[in-house]
Amino acid sequence: MKKIYFDHNATTPVAEEIFEAMVSYLSDEWGNPSSIHWAGRAPKKAIDEARENVSALLNCTPQEVIFTGSGSEGNNLAIKGTVFSRKAKGNHIITTRVEHPSVMSTLKYLEREGFEVTWLDVDTEGMIDLAQLEKSITPKTVLITIMSANNETGVILPVGEIGRIARAHKVLFHTDAVQAAGKVPLNVKDINCDLLTISAHKLYGPKGVGALFVKRGVRVVPIIHGGHHERRRRGGTENVASIVGLGKACEMALRDMDEVSSRVRALRDRLEKGLMEKIPYTTRNGHPENRLPNTANLGFEFVEGESLLLNLDMLGIAASSGSACTSGSLEPSHVLIAMGIRPELSHGSVRFSLGRVNTAEDVDYLLNKMPPIVERMRSMSPLWSAEEGKRAEISFEEKGH
Ligand SMILES: *Cc1c(COP(=O)(O)O)cnc(C)c1O
Repeated sequence: MKKIYFDHNATTPVAEEIFEAMVSYLSDEWGNPSSIHWAGRAPKKAIDEARENVSALLNCTPQEVIFTGSGSEGNNLAIKGTVFSRKAKGNHIITTRVEHPSVMSTLKYLEREGFEVTWLDVDTEGMIDLAQLEKSITPKTVLITIMSANNETGVILPVGEIGRIARAHKVLFHTDAVQAAGKVPLNVKDINCDLLTISAHKLYGPKGVGALFVKRGVRVVPIIHGGHHERRRRGGTENVASIVGLGKACEMALRDMDEVSSRVRALRDRLEKGLMEKIPYTTRNGHPENRLPNTANLGFEFVEGESLLLNLDMLGIAASSGSACTSGSLEPSHVLIAMGIRPELSHGSVRFSLGRVNTAEDVDYLLNKMPPIVERMRSMSPLWSAEEGKRAEISFEEKGH
């Protein structure tokens, strides 16, 4: 069976060169990087190099990088680690309604623990209102956490401006940059952020490893207590091979970003334009320009997204209904609902997220196979027949009858 992967925002295949860089740290170089003897030397050096590679991608210093066990852990550490250390100053946090579950559920947990959270609205294109953000800041605000790019729609939020507002009010700013990393340039100095999260498996590295940038001088209390690892901010013997994989992934992203992004953008545009032309009643979810080059989130009226995905899967096409974390649940996407999209259309929305392995043939395969599927599904929908009936009536009247 043909296998076509359009779900890179859920995870990416591990690149060959990343896999090769990792292997020796799972075999010959098994030492503990904290050891002072010979066995620890090569692993220690490898971690140092990976830290340099991460810092080069983000434009920070290696000392400002903490390795974590995932993007979710990075978000937890960024949020809990800062607000717990600032309880004396205040208990107010600002975020948006479209964050990843690892941010959203951390904040819901903190609400139960007595913190107050302002959930900023987004407009129909998924953008926040900077004036609403600025108005929400109070003397008790200790943290603003807003993602750089949304995983479901690819919408890029104005992090540079958010950073300037946070700086002007002396409030810490964390951004979940897991989807943005490797797809668009990320520079912590331009963004003006104090903390920034990335995860290796969204940029062709292994799962279960990520990094958190913490600006020099910003205090975070650990959520995993342990030894002296990561300057006492994250206990646990380092996952050497995975950290090496993350370092390599950042090196690769920095080297290939421009070339891959423009190639992927062209494929995404071909896919989006093709589907919108071939399938009537199709709408784009999200801002038309301010978005990642690889993501297309499309709503198909009168179809059920989950069954559409199953039909595509039978043809070897992998796509998703939004966040991997909510698939399998019947709740409509919280991101699309926050954008004011009707629940029926949210249910009929599909995310295609492309990556460096995709080709024009992949896109054309989809463009050939998908329209008949949608047509068949619609022909079985009573709502669609009603709509068709209405349209027939209108054209009957238009003809002057
Ligand atoms: C995938 C993702 C995460 C979580 O990263 P994991 O390494 O899978 O825990 C966080 N935020 C966003 C925006 C993501 O897309």
